[in-house]
Amino acid sequence: MKPLNADLHCHSVVSDGLLAPAAVVRRAKLNGVELLALTDHDELSGIAEARAAANEVDLRFVDGVEVSISWGDDQTVHIVALGVDPQNASLIAGLFQVRSGRDSRAARMAAELDKVGIHGAYDGALRFVGNPALISRSHFARFIVEQGHAKDVKSVFDHWLAKGKPGYVEHSWATLQDALGWIIGAAGVAVIAHPARYRLTRTERRDLYSTFRDLGGRGIEVLSGSHNDDDVREYARVAREFGFLASRGSDFHGPGESRVDLGKLPDLPEDLTPVWSVLH
Ligand code: AMP
Ligand code: MN
Ligand code: MN
Ligand code: MN
Repeated sequence: MKPLNADLHCHSVVSDGLLAPAAVVRRAKLNGVELLALTDHDELSGIAEARAAANEVDLRFVDGVEVSISWGDDQTVHIVALGVDPQNASLIAGLFQVRSGRDSRAARMAAELDKVGIHGAYDGALRFVGNPALISRSHFARFIVEQGHAKDVKSVFDHWLAKGKPGYVEHSWATLQDALGWIIGAAGVAVIAHPARYRLTRTERRDLYSTFRDLGGRGIEVLSGSHNDDDVREYARVAREFGFLASRGSDFHGPGESRVDLGKLPDLPEDLTPVWSVLH
């Protein structure tokens, strides 16, 4: 049977993507996506527009969100929630709480960047944000590129915004336990996003996977826009070992900024159980 072209991870202008929710949906359809989840960071408000657009173009749509959590010693981990009820009060309140830290974090980032000669970054980043509550490192990156300090968003992260670089500040996001409580309480399926991106020791990693599973987490992204072939093999292995459902998501943010476009990913290894087998 031909595998389903599912893309269960992408962003719109509601968080740090470049396209409106409806435009993301139309692009996904043109790219041949058959099942799409919009997973903006810490925010559900793009879902209504995206779902309406998906109905218009006859594309199966899953309500999603990507939740920022803190793990171990100041590590940020992202949990993709799929099939959540976007009206669920605890989920809405939880995400509100996660977003509420972003503004003061952005002010701290701007103060650090100022010390290394990048001035006016808070107001500058705000010019790139749709919703100020969702101000993120991506918006700072776009401002820094615009100012000519770097050639593209990726090199901004390499030089200024990644952990250990001058514009990086520590921040407490949600706990894994709280995030899984909100997601499962809203009837969602929790998936570890882009596992290759985390700089964790072997022990910390195994602890993350088993704690996530113990708390009711079900899936892991095996195919991601941030994974190379070796990563795909490794996270397929992790899915088998921990009994995780396998997910597939481009993490598309926008044309020209993302390496992988909507739906343009390889197929999942055939022996894995796709996460969409439990989504309806
Ligand atoms: P924040 O939630 O403010 O920490 O911003 C995180 C976002 O920055 C991610 O969702 C990505 O969109 C983007 N990002 C993180 N690391 C990189 C990187 N190395 N290159 C490009 N974008 C990145
Ligand atoms: Mn992002
Ligand atoms: Mn992410
Ligand atoms: Mn993402």
